[in-house]
Amino acid sequence: MRKKIVAGNWKMNNGVQETEKLINEVKDSISILDQKNVRVIVAPSFVSLTSALENAKNSKIEVAAQNMHQEKNGAYTGEISAEILRSIGIKTVILGHSERRQYFGENDKLIAKKIDAALANNLEIIFCFGELLDQRKLENHLLEVGSQLKNSLFHLKAEDFKNIILAYEPVWAIGTGETATPEQAQEMHAFVRNVLANKFGEKTANSISILYGGSVKPSNAEEIFSKEDVDGGLIGGASLIAEDFVAIIKAI
Ligand code: PEP
Repeated sequence: MRKKIVAGNWKMNNGVQETEKLINEVKDSISILDQKNVRVIVAPSFVSLTSALENAKNSKIEVAAQNMHQEKNGAYTGEISAEILRSIGIKTVILGHSERRQYFGENDKLIAKKIDAALANNLEIIFCFGELLDQRKLENHLLEVGSQLKNSLFHLKAEDFKNIILAYEPVWAIGTGETATPEQAQEMHAFVRNVLANKFGEKTANSISILYGGSVKPSNAEEIFSKEDVDGGLIGGASLIAEDFVAIIKAI
């Protein structure tokens, strides 16, 4: 059975103390939930990762990084490698987020290199992809997403997908308050699963969790999560408010 996953991307928000507070609030609120098939992941900033791991110990919450560099080590000032993440106990990393693509010039080719580096270091990946508003308006969204998947994932082996979570994030829905309809999300998730089935086989396609991300809130989470191919959510803004994030976790 595919795992259900709710992941919070905390982006460039919260210092160490605020991160600890948020983790503990979420931890306390979900401790009574019976969610064997549900994973809860949070991704604080790099400087808060160690204390986040410490505070999340013995709880349902897993801690992920928001990004990493593709090289093993070396003269890359300000960057963090897969090995460095592993050294503090991080097991999951978000790659390909649209903000990395938009503000830091990351493209499919670079993201493919990051994916390889993460897999080589036994890091699980939350791989983000999604179309821009213009591409959706021109009805090129399936074409665009198909191309992102091909460019960043098609060189992998089927077994690599044991360590990959997919996150469909239409760029026009991120942080805008505008959400894809449950039907739009389902259409894309089914398409993605089909693309993977054709390339890597049905078994791989059916076992991979595909999350939806883009203005998920307590008021729309349940309806989006009810769709057959939506296995959870990657949550930005709403994951910074413990009450809202917990409500979204409960919705799954
Ligand atoms: C995100 O950045 O991954 C995201 C989904 O943000 P928001 O929920 O704020 O749209």
